[in-house]
Amino acid sequence: MNKIKKRKEIISIVEKLKKKGKKIVIFNGTFDILHLGHIRSLIEAKTQGDILIILLNSDKSIRNYKGPRRPINSQRERAEMLAGLECVDFVSILNEGNLKKILNQIKPDVHCQGKDWDKDCLGRKLVEKNGGKIHILKWNKSLSTTKLIDKILDVYSKSSLKAVFLDRDGTINLNQPEYLYKIKDFKFAPTTIPALQKLSRTDYKIIVLTNQSGIGRGYFKESDLKKLHKWMTKELKKKDIRIDKIYYCPHCSDDNCSCRKPKLGMIKKAVHDFGIDLTKSWMIGDDEKDIIMGRRVNLKTILINKKAKNNLKSQPHYSVGQLNEAIDIILNF
Ligand SMILES: [Mg+2]
Ligand SMILES: [Zn+2]
Repeated sequence: MNKIKKRKEIISIVEKLKKKGKKIVIFNGTFDILHLGHIRSLIEAKTQGDILIILLNSDKSIRNYKGPRRPINSQRERAEMLAGLECVDFVSILNEGNLKKILNQIKPDVHCQGKDWDKDCLGRKLVEKNGGKIHILKWNKSLSTTKLIDKILDVYSKSSLKAVFLDRDGTINLNQPEYLYKIKDFKFAPTTIPALQKLSRTDYKIIVLTNQSGIGRGYFKESDLKKLHKWMTKELKKKDIRIDKIYYCPHCSDDNCSCRKPKLGMIKKAVHDFGIDLTKSWMIGDDEKDIIMGRRVNLKTILINKKAKNNLKSQPHYSVGQLNEAIDIILNF
């Protein structure tokens, strides 16, 4: 059943319901971003009678009293969300200035109001004159759309975090044997421990981005990789080294995925997950793919592998022989 009705339809529906002896409850509001406070109020309103009708403030009326940035959700979307709730029987969009008019037409048995409304709230006299009553809803100050928006902004606006993105093989550990996945084959590069200890004492997030096409090629399983990473992280933690996150691409180049470096899938995910400011962040790796990826998103890039430097199409900002030199460049920048 479509619960969203035009004003004229609502009035004729109410007339029929009243003839059947149904008690009509009206609740007028904005319901911009539906939250627990709304749900509790709506359920409470429903208990005041048989039929709950929401008079939903139109987009235009909301803009007029809350400013041009609200509502977040359009009236069509808000109406549909409310209509999806079991406790709501009908929803009708209310244009500004029309509340009294429609209250006079519907003559509700109960008109629900939030506690923040004043005693002589809009329409009280009208409702009472028509034999109805006002019900003041319980209200929890901490549950509001504005509070919710503030919380979201607080969580997501902290995009000033900076990160050092690290390749794994050839950067953190020796790149041999190829497609390594066994713990017994894994050897930290000579300066990894002191370099990452230094980095761990800063507020840089430490994030590993690694292509692991050995999975896609069937040389080892994703569970082998996870086991190795769990071990690696634990070994580093013993030395007071913090790895904030490891992202890996399990695909081979034939898979044409969006995460295999130099594609940007992994870094985009990291930016999304942590809220990282790339302009303050670095990429360190031993392969041209690391440098190309870093350059694409305006990271400052450091190549570990002086030999390869001259024949690269994508030049790093710095090139060094060992990880500790790279970390020193970053910390002295
Ligand atoms: Mg590498
Ligand atoms: Zn991938």
